[in-house]
Amino acid sequence: MAVRQLFTLGICPSAARATLLAHRRYSKVSPALSERLQVFESLREKRCSKERVEASEKPLIIQLADGRTVKGKAGVTTPLFVAQSVRVKGALVSKVNGELWELGRPLEADCELQLLGFDTLEGKKVTSFPCSSQFCQMWILTFEMVFFFIYLFLPKDTLLRLQLVEQQMNGPYITVYRYLTPSFSFAISLFLCSLSVTPQLSSVTLANHTESSGLMRLLGVAFPGEKDKDEWEKEQEAARRRDHRRIGTDQELFFFNDVSPGSCFFLPKGAHIYNTLTDFIKSEYRRRGFTEVVTPTLYSTALWQRSGHWDHYSENMFTVTSEGSQTYALKPMNCPAHCLMFEHRVRSWRELPVRWADFGALHRNELSGALGGLTRVRRFCQDDAHIFCTPGQLEEEIVACLDFVRSVYRVFGFSFHCLLSTRPTPCLGEPEQWDNAEQQLERSLQQFGERWELNPGDGAFYGPKIDIQIKDAIGRQHQCATIQLDFQLPIRFDLQYVGQDGQLHRPVMIHRAVLGSLERMIAILAENFGGKWPLWLSPAQIMVIPVGGNSESYAKQQFHEAGFMVDLNEDQGATLNKKIRSAQLAQYNYIFVVGDKESESGTVNVRSRGGKQLGRRPTEELLTSLTQLRDSRSNENEF
Ligand SMILES: [Zn+2]
Repeated sequence: MAVRQLFTLGICPSAARATLLAHRRYSKVSPALSERLQVFESLREKRCSKERVEASEKPLIIQLADGRTVKGKAGVTTPLFVAQSVRVKGALVSKVNGELWELGRPLEADCELQLLGFDTLEGKKVTSFPCSSQFCQMWILTFEMVFFFIYLFLPKDTLLRLQLVEQQMNGPYITVYRYLTPSFSFAISLFLCSLSVTPQLSSVTLANHTESSGLMRLLGVAFPGEKDKDEWEKEQEAARRRDHRRIGTDQELFFFNDVSPGSCFFLPKGAHIYNTLTDFIKSEYRRRGFTEVVTPTLYSTALWQRSGHWDHYSENMFTVTSEGSQTYALKPMNCPAHCLMFEHRVRSWRELPVRWADFGALHRNELSGALGGLTRVRRFCQDDAHIFCTPGQLEEEIVACLDFVRSVYRVFGFSFHCLLSTRPTPCLGEPEQWDNAEQQLERSLQQFGERWELNPGDGAFYGPKIDIQIKDAIGRQHQCATIQLDFQLPIRFDLQYVGQDGQLHRPVMIHRAVLGSLERMIAILAENFGGKWPLWLSPAQIMVIPVGGNSESYAKQQFHEAGFMVDLNEDQGATLNKKIRSAQLAQYNYIFVVGDKESESGTVNVRSRGGKQLGRRPTEELLTSLTQLRDSRSNENEF
């Protein structure tokens, strides 16, 4: 981890004035400040001595993206200097030979240089940062796309601070910054002229600690100007309206209770969505040759030792002690159970591929501070499946998995692309096995025909994988589906099948999920649709509003029997308009108004959630149309 100092960038005049002011203030240092300064100086010295070694002052040729070339000196010339000398304004970060590079970091060799402003993704990302204090005296910066500002205010506990830095910074570089003012907004204005700090404070908990470290984290986002800030605030407000926790409360879908942190209580309407998603996947299983299995939740630690989870994952597992000394653990995943099922009897090549799906409840011990709504939970369920096949069947199975993913995401209206993650270092297994598997995955992706990218070195240690990144209606990216090859579990469980040649062979194992966690997918879908569920998934499909004294509830009965989520508003006190309005606010897909005239002719007066009048329709005809709309999982409202 390289530690470097930033050369302060003065952009706006007010920032420059504030710098001078701060210098004056800083001349009277308190003991706490002086201690902070010492830490800073030692980190800077460490970096500078490294830079002195690197700074050969050898002449450099810097190639710019617009074709121009600039001369410089190794270890001296910085991208900032280049930006100033070629008059490129608004650069926030750079890329050197494709690698993200801080503007103040000296160049080391001949290179291609890109200067990136706020209009680029990288520029935006490096100006959004969680900050650990509103009184930053010094902070540390990483180039893992996001700036982390760590508040180093504790006067004594240097070790704690460094541990915090180590934990939060995973990138190859860390930069130490020192600003001389207690004003956080000033420090940011050195870069940018406008700052908005969202009032989100949270306490910082260190790994291996359950108690708070005493540090506070403050979330802040900076912008190059007021206009960008206003736009962002509007987007934030829209996101707040779409927050799945808010939709969950408003529509009475689910809630959480402290008696079981991180485990969701799905109310009838939430359970309807949950089950509809499950039924959707189950109907695909039937078509695609998957069979469902049901497996236990509690297993002896002996199983987890055998699968390797006990060594690598036990801190995320809940354990239970029974009959004195026996320790059991709640399963965090289904794979070992499926391996036991495979080894339960001798398997023949004729049976392969075996495709087992399991909707079993999984538990993972997330820190209570990390829990939030349906996106980080302790109890969840996946549309999990494992495929055991021969190496020769791999390519075809992967293409089938990809096709499964595509057909489901089409229904949700998500666009997606795939990432092929190849072997990390270190990894388990033979190099030829990896080569072979990676080539097969690549061929499957080619055959599949959708956009994909290579993600070198990001595979699991037990095998390469394909991650599928989706883009939702508001442009946010999520990773839900995954297709992972596993060479290790079949070895650990000594899984074998009798081949066509009569010999024993090792099967290949594929872990795959399409929705991923159902809980998280419900959160994504709630926000994607902004609570306006399409008919097929909606927990509030039809509201029947009778008018006049003798209106029958025949419409409710008929649609209820056909499996629709239908409610009746018999409130005598409210006006028709008010009832319609409240049904619209509750996001009922359709509102049926039934008066005497409708009742006599066996019709209902239909309007859609958006307020569109669809007219008086015979109930029989309506039932056919809505059933068709629901069963085809259409996202259309009109028929
Ligand atoms: Zn698995």
